[in-house]
Amino acid sequence: MNPCTTPAIVLRRRDYADFDLILTVLTQDHGVRTLIAKSAKKSVKRFPGILEPFAGLKIVFRPGRGKGLPVLTEADLVKSHTALRSDIQKTAYASYWSELVAIWLEEGQSQARIFELLDFVLDGLSDGTAPDALLSLLFQMRFVGYEGLRPILERCACCRKTIEAMPQHQFCIDLSRGGIVCHQCPMPCDVHLKLGKGTLKQLLWMAHGDLSTALRVRFGPSTLAEASQFLEAFVPYHIGRMPKSLDFLRRVRKSAA
Ligand SMILES: [Zn+2]
Repeated sequence: MNPCTTPAIVLRRRDYADFDLILTVLTQDHGVRTLIAKSAKKSVKRFPGILEPFAGLKIVFRPGRGKGLPVLTEADLVKSHTALRSDIQKTAYASYWSELVAIWLEEGQSQARIFELLDFVLDGLSDGTAPDALLSLLFQMRFVGYEGLRPILERCACCRKTIEAMPQHQFCIDLSRGGIVCHQCPMPCDVHLKLGKGTLKQLLWMAHGDLSTALRVRFGPSTLAEASQFLEAFVPYHIGRMPKSLDFLRRVRKSAA
């Protein structure tokens, strides 16, 4: 197999042996890949301090020998995203999104839409073009939507009646049914999660269309908190794993409040 050249985002990095690094990257054309960067800590000429978490790169990698990991042979920096490593709240959000991608996507499965989405929200987080929490709502809604796990918010997940046909303004969430349930249907066990009708409509609006346009939606502080609490429960439940970085994100947000 020939070497592959592709845009890539660093999801995580760890040290290996004395001088090597193991990188998990999301590539534009070849999905998630775990690569070894040999002598990366020694050779400042080949990779001059650019193999950092959340950096956007253009990389070249080749298959490993035998059962060995594919080898990173070249990398050029496209976006350094320095702010994502110097601001603890931004680090926490970027870590959460990167971990979701790394744990959910299968190695090598091409996911150009998720690459475009992650690239978009990391740019926004780095440049401060939208509130961090709003970018996280956009990321989570689109991420589960692309993977066929979008929450049912336009109708009751139990009786299927549309929210427009119901007089109530608050809806309980039933995670196991995948969405909201109305007052006429059996109450879910976990009743602490609730969404107002306005929040539902805003989340639905974010689920479709152009990414920049989706960010024009305006959330007040309480609806933003309500929507964040909902998605940060819904997404781990449906991907079947609790990302470690979500706990970190919650602690960082709490100490900032
Ligand atoms: Zn119902």
